[in-house]
Amino acid sequence: MKLIIKPEFVDKYKDNYPLILPEYIQDFSKVEVEGSILNLCDKKNNFIAKGYYGKQNKGFGWILSYKEDEKIDKTFFISKIKSALEYRKDFFDDENTTAFRIFNGEGDGVGGLTIDFFDGYYLITWYSIGIYRFREDILDALRDSVDYKGIYQKKRFDAKGMYLKDEDFVCGNKVLEEPIIVKENGIKFAIYLDDGAMVGVFLDQKDVRKTLRDNYVKGKTVLNTFSYTGAFSVASALGGAKKTTSVDLAKRSLSKTKEHFEINNIDSSKQSIVVEDVFDYFKYAIRKKLLFDVVVVDPPSFARSKKRVFSANKDYVNLLKEIIQITSKNGLIVASTNSANFSMMNFHDFIKKAFKESNKKYKVEKSFSLPKDFKVNQKFKEGDYLKVVFIRKIG
Ligand code: SAH
Repeated sequence: MKLIIKPEFVDKYKDNYPLILPEYIQDFSKVEVEGSILNLCDKKNNFIAKGYYGKQNKGFGWILSYKEDEKIDKTFFISKIKSALEYRKDFFDDENTTAFRIFNGEGDGVGGLTIDFFDGYYLITWYSIGIYRFREDILDALRDSVDYKGIYQKKRFDAKGMYLKDEDFVCGNKVLEEPIIVKENGIKFAIYLDDGAMVGVFLDQKDVRKTLRDNYVKGKTVLNTFSYTGAFSVASALGGAKKTTSVDLAKRSLSKTKEHFEINNIDSSKQSIVVEDVFDYFKYAIRKKLLFDVVVVDPPSFARSKKRVFSANKDYVNLLKEIIQITSKNGLIVASTNSANFSMMNFHDFIKKAFKESNKKYKVEKSFSLPKDFKVNQKFKEGDYLKVVFIRKIG
């Protein structure tokens, strides 16, 4: 179907902006069926780009091609997957890392679709009904392009943009006994491909975990807040931390964190794993005058618990102020966020404000954005959502 781009946005699409936004297009309300191919033109009917309609949190679809006669079929997806694999070919040779992303949405030319590799298994995540309509072509393209043990999928869409519980196994060999054990820079992780929306590890933190393990934790006490399955705690213990403390609200975090310690041959009974709201834990730690040499903080962008609503955008400054109080003299705070609602510059402002209001000084030692395998589209920098800053507290 043909649509006219509003004149003031034509140059944006000519300059390869990949996201389809209804406010940039005339009569977008005419588009009805997700998965429809949209041919975008200027008002003189000159073809500019083609994409598909698929509703996500942000945007209503993605540009796929700048060639008018290009068909969006299996051949198209094979070429996208092949170049994505080529870009990551060194990753397949690294025996110490057997889990990484092989296809990162618009960074690899198809927004709304990611594919992760876990030791021979592939996990496809569909972010809209629109992209899911291309399922058969994309699956065929993947099957033709890689040798696989098995293929799994997650559907991250429904009316509310939530995860849809469904059959996650697609084809190949089913994992008979979950978890599968993968490695990331030598750290072992337990991956559950068929157990809810998340598999157990966020692969985008690989460079951060490695840096922490190799350079910052030897002989230190480490507090890992919002610890989930304890990935930062395990990296710290392997880096020679004196002791780790992991705090997460979710009951499942206890067994999952223990499992992660154990598969890495670390005695979990010597580590502390606390199932509690981090804000209650801060009160306890401040009352007991506990101090930690390294504090990792990686909250969700948004979370609703029984007691409160947490939003990274609104609450990060206060979160840091609590953390500053329980960080040792000259200690390190690893502050992380995956919120796409604010920029790295905003994040640095939050840090500045928190220290100022705490009357403390600091120095930024390092910062990270997404790792190489999470390829970013240079015309869509918002896609680089990860922001991690290593902050040295001075005094
Ligand atoms: N840092 C983790 C990922 C964090 S995911 C890692 O690198 O693997 C976010 C986690 O925050 C979830 O496990 C969730 O249970 C937890 N969470 C959300 N609100 C919380 C709260 N108020 N207190 C403690 N944990 C919370």
